[in-house]
Amino acid sequence: MLKKFVQYYKPHKFLFGMDLLVAFSMAGIDLIFPMFSRSIVNDLIPNGDVRRIVIFSSIILLLYFLKIGFNYFVGFWGHILGSRIEFDMHNDLFSHMQKLEFSFFDNNKTGQLMNRLTGDLNEVTELAHHGPEDLFVSSVMLIGSFILLFQINWMLTLIVFFFVFLTIFFSIRMRRSMTRTFRNVRSKQADINAQLESSLSGIRLSKTFANEPYEIEKFYVANDAHLSSKRDSFKAIAVYTSGNNFFIDMMTLSSMVAGGLFVLKGLINYGDLLAFTLYISFFTKPIRSLIQLTQQLQSGMAGFERFLEVMAIEPTIKDADHAKPIEAMKGNIELRDVSFKYESTGEWVLKDFSLEIPKGKTVALVGPSGVGKTTITQLIPRFYDVASGQVLIDGHDIKDLTLTSLRSQIGIVQQDVFLFYGTIRDNIAYGRPGATDSEIMDAARKANIHNFIIGLEDGYGSMVGERGVKLSGGQKQRIAIARVFLKNPPILILDEATSALDNENELAIQNSIEILAKNRTTLIIAHRLSTIKNADEILVMTETGIAERGSHDRLLERDGLYNRLYHAQFKGYIPDTSK
Ligand code: ADP
Ligand code: MG
Repeated sequence: MLKKFVQYYKPHKFLFGMDLLVAFSMAGIDLIFPMFSRSIVNDLIPNGDVRRIVIFSSIILLLYFLKIGFNYFVGFWGHILGSRIEFDMHNDLFSHMQKLEFSFFDNNKTGQLMNRLTGDLNEVTELAHHGPEDLFVSSVMLIGSFILLFQINWMLTLIVFFFVFLTIFFSIRMRRSMTRTFRNVRSKQADINAQLESSLSGIRLSKTFANEPYEIEKFYVANDAHLSSKRDSFKAIAVYTSGNNFFIDMMTLSSMVAGGLFVLKGLINYGDLLAFTLYISFFTKPIRSLIQLTQQLQSGMAGFERFLEVMAIEPTIKDADHAKPIEAMKGNIELRDVSFKYESTGEWVLKDFSLEIPKGKTVALVGPSGVGKTTITQLIPRFYDVASGQVLIDGHDIKDLTLTSLRSQIGIVQQDVFLFYGTIRDNIAYGRPGATDSEIMDAARKANIHNFIIGLEDGYGSMVGERGVKLSGGQKQRIAIARVFLKNPPILILDEATSALDNENELAIQNSIEILAKNRTTLIIAHRLSTIKNADEILVMTETGIAERGSHDRLLERDGLYNRLYHAQFKGYIPDTSK
């Protein structure tokens, strides 16, 4: 893990090197001062050497001026270094997440993933900036002070060393419980974010059910768990710091007492004792910062570990080494003996399922919800891989094709339309980035939404999404259809595209959909049998598989499930006679 961490410094070698060099110089300047004090007390004052006192202090003054610049450099560029590393990690994590497949997002809540990008990495940045610098400077200070202490008086140094040893021993003992509590805090924080994300995106629903108190309660529980996880971690920190501070205090006290006795016995002189105590006072700073660093290391590494966890997930759905792009797909689709189950549930959704849609034809799937209709639509663009069997396009197993070439030739319209926060123009252009304005408008016209758009105050530049114009379900659906018109794929999948619309809207959109489906291989799923009447083949699915298949007329002739469904749907209603 540390190796992976160090990797992130590589592109910033120069800055990192400069940072350490400057920090090192700062430590050096600090180490000179006690030596200077010692020689003033021991030599210069007894000899009345005013000239050298002035020269020495001028040099020190000069060094202190230099230190202003050094401090600035470490404060500013050191943080820039940390932020650049954070920048790289952010980009890596985000691009990696973009590569991951549907099943990953089935298993991870959006809020938790967002937390990895923000919260977790924040702590890593702190560590990235302060970690190596503190470690380096503190080590230089400690080792430097030790060497100089030994020179002054080795017996006193041993006393000091005893307490340093105690401090280090204690720190290591406390390490494990601290890591555990920090990790717990981070995971509880992720839970809060997940809860927040879910509650806020569903806030309209909660209000509909007047369930705000229930949401507040759920949030309270997550928030409370976070609070108590913090309590545990603060407790661990408090024990740790108070213990360590005690050892440092003991070190100062004992060296003072022992030093005083040494002076009385004539073992050291006043100048030595002065330098000695000054060095010890230096000592406390690097020890404290090393202790702080171990804390930072715990939480930073816990964050980095969670970062690596996601980075380590290899997408299983990716281009095979031998994968070739499929150019100008004709659009023959075949599912051959396909069996499939979702990783998360492990229950078979499809067993030896076969289906063929010749190019340009339309096949409709009907059946109760939960039988696997949507699942079938997700296997064709290879959002999930089949457990056995094959999905073939123009006779090629889709596992032999590149994902980009496959997916760029399949258009999907679903019941829930997702619009990105952005302009209407951008949302339509999503179907084919780089499309010209006239192509976009053309697509909008075909989807029957152009007139509505130009009637808006900002036209195609109107913002949609949470803070933008409010669109009705039918309008959103038309934007989704315009997207697919623009994409112009040979294969079209309509998954209950109009099921959420009222009759009037459905009829209007039906028309655009028929134009869209023309000359494309189409797989359509719909509840309203009136919308699928014209399909070349209709598959009636039940939990046990395909119950019936055939054209509308053929199926009506039989006294089967389709016949019953069809008549049940129209009983008491005026059949759709618009066509
Ligand atoms: P339909 O579209 O016919 O209503 P689906 O294909 O959506 O049916 O679902 C088929 C079965 O697979 C259902 O039992 C459903 O609960 C399950 N399922 C659907 N999506 C997922 C998923 N992402 N993870 C786990 N199980 C799923
Ligand atoms: Mg479905």
